[in-house]
Amino acid sequence: MVENDIFIVKGLSPIVNIPTVPLGKLIYDKLVLNNNENKALINGHTGESISNKKLLGRIMCLSECLLKLGCGKNTVVTICSENCIEFFIPVIAALYIGAIVAPINHNYTKREIRHAIDISKPKIIFCSEQVFPKFSELKRKVNYIDKVLIINDTTTTEGAESMTSFVRKSLRKGPLLYRFRPAEVEVANDVAFILYSSGTTGLPKGVMITHRNVLTIFAQNDDPRITNQDEGRCILGILPFFHAYGMIAGLNNIYKQTKVIVLKKFEEHLFLKSIGKYRISSLLLVPPLLVFLAKSRLLHYYDLSSVKEVFCGAAPLSKNTEDEVKRRLKISSVRQGYGLTETTLAVIKMPLGHNKSGSSGRLLPYMLCKIRDPETGTSLGPNQIGELCFKGPLVMKGYYGNAEATRSSFTQDGWLLTGDLGYYDNEEYFFIVDRLKEVIKYKGFQVAPTELEAILLSHRKIKDAAVLGIPHEASGELPLAFVVPNPSSGLTEEEVKRFVAAKVSPEKRLRGGVIFVPEIPKNPSGKILRRELRELLTKKYKSK
Ligand code: AMP
Repeated sequence: MVENDIFIVKGLSPIVNIPTVPLGKLIYDKLVLNNNENKALINGHTGESISNKKLLGRIMCLSECLLKLGCGKNTVVTICSENCIEFFIPVIAALYIGAIVAPINHNYTKREIRHAIDISKPKIIFCSEQVFPKFSELKRKVNYIDKVLIINDTTTTEGAESMTSFVRKSLRKGPLLYRFRPAEVEVANDVAFILYSSGTTGLPKGVMITHRNVLTIFAQNDDPRITNQDEGRCILGILPFFHAYGMIAGLNNIYKQTKVIVLKKFEEHLFLKSIGKYRISSLLLVPPLLVFLAKSRLLHYYDLSSVKEVFCGAAPLSKNTEDEVKRRLKISSVRQGYGLTETTLAVIKMPLGHNKSGSSGRLLPYMLCKIRDPETGTSLGPNQIGELCFKGPLVMKGYYGNAEATRSSFTQDGWLLTGDLGYYDNEEYFFIVDRLKEVIKYKGFQVAPTELEAILLSHRKIKDAAVLGIPHEASGELPLAFVVPNPSSGLTEEEVKRFVAAKVSPEKRLRGGVIFVPEIPKNPSGKILRRELRELLTKKYKSK
């Protein structure tokens, strides 16, 4: 359908075609072509590495074993681990056989994991030793998990089977066929990933990312206007691989033969040391890491002269931080990107060599955007703030098994509603200014207020509760709870914080504090009036 709305912004004109082959086949062909001893992934903590040749061999063996186990198209495979050099072996193996990859945050509690797996119903789990006990317990409680395998080569956990020993055993029963062919899939329709996101409201849902969604990212990463094409680059794999940003970027780096230095968590010294040691030229980061670069005294002790560009996404970045990082690293630009799990990755990016402070950049090729007036639904012109809405091949297929949530995240004429407020200027550079949706972003991680509210309401001393994000320079936002205690319950702030902390992953803790109030403002249908609570907070801080 041709859109004739004059205010629809079209992405940069495409110069790279979107590949039409399945993602698994595309990566397989590339790895076969580069079947050499060059290092593909290096463990930044130990120096241990995997070569391209070994990576391909291990992926092929695992693919075959998964097929033998009866996995194939529509099987869901979950990976739940800290970043490690083996992480992408099951990811790519699953893609080879046409299965769906559903990564899960390794910091999730058992309750959070249960919520996620009940959506995607994985048949096979690859996890780290740290999370193995949670899965081995859950396997007994649900009927869809067949196998839980430890992703790392060596395991000391009793009763656990590692990915390597599973492959060895399985191949002993019958040798490799050596006629392996990546599965055929319907690129535009078949799902490659299920990634978890709250969307604009509620608990995490399973975002269906098709092969074509990811192939569009691959095409954009081959576009020299948008992505640095320097050969022989090395990238730090520090963003969590379970998140769209870390996962798709990591996969694309393997595809493009960009060496990945894998860091399982942020350690100040190691992070800075690795930049110098591996002569990292592009850093792919999130705002809290830029705040670190803008402030830390440790920078003086390390050689960061290799860094030529810093790219930042996943949450708002302040102009001060942006300017300070430029000054301290002596680089001319910090490029931003804006996107959401529901758009696979970034939909708006600052093109290379362009610089407009505070802007997230231009709309990427193949995409359409409109700024929608949230009250009237009409499209707005330049310099007018409204909700960003998108159409195009980066937009998700929908939420897995949740037609209702899918329906409400699109307008009737098919625009994805982002819940973010922003505008574009006369040159079509976009600025993100606020969030209409209720989700909180702590260090780039999503925190759903409704999830924390449900937990708070389960406390016997709590009558009512509401959760908000309060701005915080280093972390973006901190979750804060308004709590109505039951009369004479003697409830304390510490008690509330501890109660929540015991039930959620660390990023969801009530670091913003707890405020006791006599009631939670609600509209007649019971919806929390978050704006009123925000005003209450502003007044409280002003009066201090
Ligand atoms: P996620 O799905 O976890 O990637 O979260 C997506 C949300 O992060 C978006 O809807 C925005 O609210 C926020 N976000 C991502 N990138 C930016 C950015 N460059 N500026 C402001 N907010 C951003």
